[in-house]
Amino acid sequence: MFTVRTARLFDGRDMRHDQVVTIADGRVREVSPGTRATVDLGDATLLPGLIDCHVHLAFDAGPDPVAMLDAPGLPGRMREAARRHLAAGVTTVRDLGDRDYLALDLGLGLKGPEILAAGPPITTTRGHCWWLGGEADSEEAIRQAVREHAGRGVHVIKMMVTGGELTEGSHSHLRQYGAAELRAAADEAHALGLPITGHAHCADGIALALEAGFDSIEHCSFITGDTVELDHGLIARLAAAEIVVSLSIGNVPVPGVPPPRFVALMPGILEGARAMYAAGVDFVIGTDAGIGPRKPHGLLPHGAKILVELGYAPINVLRSMTSVAARVCRVTDRKGRIAAGMDADLLAVAGDPLADITALRHPLAVFRMGRRVFS
Ligand SMILES: [Zn+2]
Repeated sequence: MFTVRTARLFDGRDMRHDQVVTIADGRVREVSPGTRATVDLGDATLLPGLIDCHVHLAFDAGPDPVAMLDAPGLPGRMREAARRHLAAGVTTVRDLGDRDYLALDLGLGLKGPEILAAGPPITTTRGHCWWLGGEADSEEAIRQAVREHAGRGVHVIKMMVTGGELTEGSHSHLRQYGAAELRAAADEAHALGLPITGHAHCADGIALALEAGFDSIEHCSFITGDTVELDHGLIARLAAAEIVVSLSIGNVPVPGVPPPRFVALMPGILEGARAMYAAGVDFVIGTDAGIGPRKPHGLLPHGAKILVELGYAPINVLRSMTSVAARVCRVTDRKGRIAAGMDADLLAVAGDPLADITALRHPLAVFRMGRRVFS
């Protein structure tokens, strides 16, 4: 048993001061006011370990992550990717697309983050990310695929509602499935006790996923061909519904000229994120870490910075990466808050992230189930 003290403690909902956290057997035993502790981290802030709701451990964040899938050593690269998240204070990741269900069994234990995984995303024949192995077209084939995924032990079903950027012959502004197929997937997932999230870029794909009862939407970028056109009526419907939007926000600068498509779409995507926040849409961050050099593993704190720059209140951004993300990932009984009984997955950063969100980029200490793994 040991105790940790920091000047500030963000408990997943609110910022508190002068609290001491007692940790025993990998869990938080008690949070109480106090000034003395075994580990005193001084003028720091203690937070629940962060949760990135959308990563791809199988993608190496290099210039051609799809080709690299076939290179020898994929499980080893995935373990390294997972460790990078943990080093950044991201103690839980949701992997939304791997090959052969590898993310379910990397064998890292407490040397990596907790990994919640979808396995190969369900997609149409030769549709977006078909090369991950999740092709299913008809309602019956989709139901069968959902059951197979559940049998493999996935934590979430991921479905490619629209095309995407990584796959030749696939287009973000076109949807891949109709209402009946999406409804079949959602009903089957829910019957098996699993949440379902939809990759959706274009507005009619977003609308269909919403109507089919999906629990969350990835990207939600309103891409129409070569530009972005926001649908404010649809944004209002997203805000009124239970659904959570997982914002694919976060990138790091890389040398050279950005790709033309990135330059063309990014202002509209950021404007969409601003509009959804203004409308009150529930959100988390799902960085899509791994899909290219701008999206290295461990990216989540960079996404937080962008949202604050867009006008998101820092406290809501912190909640989105902790308690709200835990709700989306269905781990509120263990993750996303600092409170008695919760897993002792913790992140300490210097200073106050409410005053300067970039504080998140400099972890002082990371605890995974009570074990200090980085410091
Ligand atoms: Zn993705």
